[in-house]
Amino acid sequence: MAELRFNALKEVFARKPLEVNIPEGKISDYFGINVFCLSKMECYLSKETYLAIREAILKGTSISRDIADKVAAGMKLWAIEKGVTHYTHWFHPLTDSTAEKHDAFIEFNESGGLVETFSGELLVQQEPDASSFPSGGIRNTFEARGYTAWDVSSPAFIVGTTLCIPTVFVSYTGEALDYKAPLLKTLAELDTAAVEVCRYFDKNVDKVISNLGWEQEYFLIDEALYYARPDLVLTDRTLMGHQSSKDQQLADHYFSSISERVMSFMIEFEYEAYKLGIPVKTRHNEVAPNQFECAPIYEETNLAVDHNQLIMDIMKRVAKKHKFKILLHEKPFAGINGSGKHNNWSLGTNTGVNLLSPGKNPKGNLQFLTFLVNVLMAVHDNRDLIRASVMTETNSYRLGGNEAPPAIISVFLGSYLSEMLDGIVEKVTGGKMTPTEKTELKLGIGKIPEILLDNTDRNRTSPFAFTGNRFEFRAVGSSSSCAPPMIALNASVADRLRKFKIDVDKLIDKGVKKDEAIFQILKRYIIESEAVRFEGDGYSTEWENEAEKRGLSNIKSVPESLKAYFSPEARHVLIDGGIFSPKELEARVGVEYEKFIKKVQIEARVLGDLAINHIVPTAIQYMTTLLDNVNALKSVFNEIESERLAGARKETIKNISDHISLIKKLVSEMVNERKKANVIDDLCDKAFAYDREVKPFLDKIRYHIDRLELTVDNEIWPLPKYRELLFSR
Ligand code: ADP
Ligand code: MG
Repeated sequence: MAELRFNALKEVFARKPLEVNIPEGKISDYFGINVFCLSKMECYLSKETYLAIREAILKGTSISRDIADKVAAGMKLWAIEKGVTHYTHWFHPLTDSTAEKHDAFIEFNESGGLVETFSGELLVQQEPDASSFPSGGIRNTFEARGYTAWDVSSPAFIVGTTLCIPTVFVSYTGEALDYKAPLLKTLAELDTAAVEVCRYFDKNVDKVISNLGWEQEYFLIDEALYYARPDLVLTDRTLMGHQSSKDQQLADHYFSSISERVMSFMIEFEYEAYKLGIPVKTRHNEVAPNQFECAPIYEETNLAVDHNQLIMDIMKRVAKKHKFKILLHEKPFAGINGSGKHNNWSLGTNTGVNLLSPGKNPKGNLQFLTFLVNVLMAVHDNRDLIRASVMTETNSYRLGGNEAPPAIISVFLGSYLSEMLDGIVEKVTGGKMTPTEKTELKLGIGKIPEILLDNTDRNRTSPFAFTGNRFEFRAVGSSSSCAPPMIALNASVADRLRKFKIDVDKLIDKGVKKDEAIFQILKRYIIESEAVRFEGDGYSTEWENEAEKRGLSNIKSVPESLKAYFSPEARHVLIDGGIFSPKELEARVGVEYEKFIKKVQIEARVLGDLAINHIVPTAIQYMTTLLDNVNALKSVFNEIESERLAGARKETIKNISDHISLIKKLVSEMVNERKKANVIDDLCDKAFAYDREVKPFLDKIRYHIDRLELTVDNEIWPLPKYRELLFSR
């Protein structure tokens, strides 16, 4: 077995950076060349068709079958000119990845010859037999067909020789089976609710867009070493491995110069991303060795979510060419930083205003404060739902697990805004405001600097931080889709904005002036949301204690956290808010429970297998060598002398033997717990059993394996060690 490890290392040492062929010239020369965007539509469609589809994209209006036919014809022409032979509806089932089923453009014509066709019907809707996707029981196999429907707001693109059409995925009975359908609903709800509120300030606003700029962290591991680690291959994380003596203590990887081999990988995947219209902008080495980050310029949320899914896919494919494996898992290595996905989120209007950026005058600033406070309220009221949206089995090793960020949702505003909000509470009294009071307030508000981006003020330990012109949600897992947290956040904010409008209108109806009504409601919200505001060190134990006093939950368990989806508050936001039907919500959370169970189950199986079939035999082999050695001493030295000489070896033999016994005992106990859990019918109860009774064994067993790694002869250790995984490239 050790042979595999050493051969892998030899392969790595012989690697050279791959030469990449990127056309010379500017990025803008090839940006979006594989996307059927508006400018291409203008070339390939008649004026009338172009205007109709443009309207549908920008305003969400529907298009006729006739227009769809014409768009399909233009799309086909464009694609075939680019060497495309197939098309697929590209969708986001409730797994961790995207789905595609390719069909060739070919049909027989009347005279039996083969022709390339593509109709509006095929563009708009497909009925894939999708019975194997998770549906949480919505679709039984006898009604296996779901259908995919074109999402006009996200442009079609080409990967290889396939035209990919972004679609939603719905069951035959109309329930959403994907992430995109509910995401689009939240975006529409948020748009409507936010426009209503904007009109207090500006009658010209008729559209509000949610923007998302994600930052994607990842690890790169050499392919040969990866394949020598069955745990990485099957679970995306190392289930064992003693910490490397040096890893990230010296902070010498963060922002350091990028190695040639990694750089050539980055250049190539970025090139592929550019061709698909993904505006990747930032690349750098992250804190942990072999950890990196990539971030694009922010985009409209639906498109940004698609682009994130797409880039994870591109990175995997390009990594393969470069003999790397990309690890998107949130915690692939114990003891060093894991990976997250920061979701930078803001709201923009059709009039070009960022609603989370201070305005140019008191009115603009009051609008800014209105949105800021409503987001604060949304997070306050729905913090458990927001946590649930990012709590997955893999992310649980980060949030509240083996890494600093706790599972407490709080909001950081920075000292300037905090004082501003406290000032409003102080200055706005319950009664009618005097003109002087009003002027004073507005003057204060008018002084908010346009640029609040103060780097020294940034708190990196907050899970939900205001960073000058946006909120940054940092608890999202690196491997998940950005959609679930965006659904939870946008739906919560939409709900709060609707309530805000009702609250303000009530006061206006009572004769309170608009500005004053807004101030009074904001004051109430600022007071009500106080518990969720935290400016200090989010990683400290003091905060965990303080949060408890404030009544903020710190739920580290995935099944426990998922329960929040069924709380009355969450049901109000998601069901009454028009995002899910009760059945859809139940099914969706059921899928999450199932994913959790299966992932723990797989990890437990892999660890059991590796422990018994790889580690224990290796340890026995080494123990036998020591035993032989002790026996051999007896043939050379007299009893007293050989006893003295064998002392340390005997100690080691005992140690190894103890670890082996404990590993065997723990593995058999774990298998027993699994058996018990497997017969539980109720999904939620089963998930709890896996969480409480099975999952803890992973660390307990690992402990003994990691001790053995320190003892057993390096020459026979079967699995690449942390130092090799993290430092060879
Ligand atoms: P960091 O947080 O590491 O300093 P950057 O400042 O580079 O990162 O920004 C991270 C992400 O935030 C990028 O995707 C960027 O486009 C995005 N971003 C910047 N401004 C906004 C905004 N107003 N709304 C949403 N995302 C934004
Ligand atoms: Mg950031």
